[in-house]
Amino acid sequence: MASLPLLREKALRRAEVSSADWNDWGWQLRNRLTTREDLEGFVRLTDEERRGIELAPSLFRIGITPYYASLMDREHPSCPVRMQVIPLGVEERVSRGEYVDPLGEDGLMPEGVSSIVHRYPDRVLLLALDRCAIYCRHCNRRRLVGQDDGVIPKQELERALDYIRRTPQVRDVLISGGDPLTLSTDKLEWLVSSVRAIEHVDIVRIGTRVPVCLPMRVDDELCAMLRKYHPLYINTHFNHPKEVTPEARAACEKLADAGIPLGNQTVLLRGVNSQPRTIEALNRLLLKMRVKPYYLFQGDPVQGTDHLRTPVSAGLEIMEHLRGRITGMGIPQLVIDAPGGGGKIPILPNYLLNWSNGELKLRNYEDKIVHYVEPVERDCTCAYDEVFFAPS
Ligand code: SF4
Repeated sequence: MASLPLLREKALRRAEVSSADWNDWGWQLRNRLTTREDLEGFVRLTDEERRGIELAPSLFRIGITPYYASLMDREHPSCPVRMQVIPLGVEERVSRGEYVDPLGEDGLMPEGVSSIVHRYPDRVLLLALDRCAIYCRHCNRRRLVGQDDGVIPKQELERALDYIRRTPQVRDVLISGGDPLTLSTDKLEWLVSSVRAIEHVDIVRIGTRVPVCLPMRVDDELCAMLRKYHPLYINTHFNHPKEVTPEARAACEKLADAGIPLGNQTVLLRGVNSQPRTIEALNRLLLKMRVKPYYLFQGDPVQGTDHLRTPVSAGLEIMEHLRGRITGMGIPQLVIDAPGGGGKIPILPNYLLNWSNGELKLRNYEDKIVHYVEPVERDCTCAYDEVFFAPS
């Protein structure tokens, strides 16, 4: 197998670009692969992929940075990078239980504010733009992203900020989209600083796939800007160890060095990362670059993605595998984001076998049965709370 640098070099030669261009995130965005001809420069397409590309204009945009494309296996259609971004003909099939808007986000937008999704009382999602560096075939927001491939008008973003200002229970703002790190640093700073200036907002979070597919975007200027607005968290979206390249590692380390706690949200994808050893390997690599595996998502039932979704048992098997093999820091929460806007529901292998008369029968990761006896006194009042939480 060719080494990664060699593949990169070949990609560079094919596209005949200078290394300065290659490392320029603007060039990467302007030169995203969008057509069959573009893709044929990188991989030998199968008939099913060709059919997917033909159908794509009516299904979901294609867009792949040359960097991310350079990670694809030219010959192997089961390459986990390729499977995430090259469409297949089966995407036109709508299966039972699939939705255009699987999380019911459109129904959770406050009246007249189409850039806010307000699902939980204390936090909101702020949709900053509809552009991503790559368009993932499993995206649960494919009804929205990539339509104009651009920024949401400032007037609409002002309306979103106004909503947050007049909703004091909002303590946490997740800026997403689209991918906020594809905004210019100035535009992003305007948005982040505006959110940060709202007194009742405790934390700002950014959801991004940029470290995975456009790592050169994470430059000193961006990090210097972001570090001014702590407490700020970033959640990224690595799905396979193949995505953890030296460039991706450098991007995550730069963000971590700017004091930004990093989490990762992996989406379980059939044939991409549905084997326990793949997630174990990925999570070990994430920990090494200071990214905490945060969520492992059961695939959302978005229309045309049945072929990419796994049975729930695959996720449970992965969780069983991880427990005891890797530090608890490397074990994400397996969740189903409830269709229709019900929020994230954690699912776990069954470790609690019985609980009666103050005694629990538990199973550990080796299937060893253990018993835990509860203390007799079960009143959990914290007497000091009345002092600590007393209004001043
Ligand atoms: S980067 Fe995120 S929002 Fe954009 S297409 Fe991929 S999954 Fe969807």
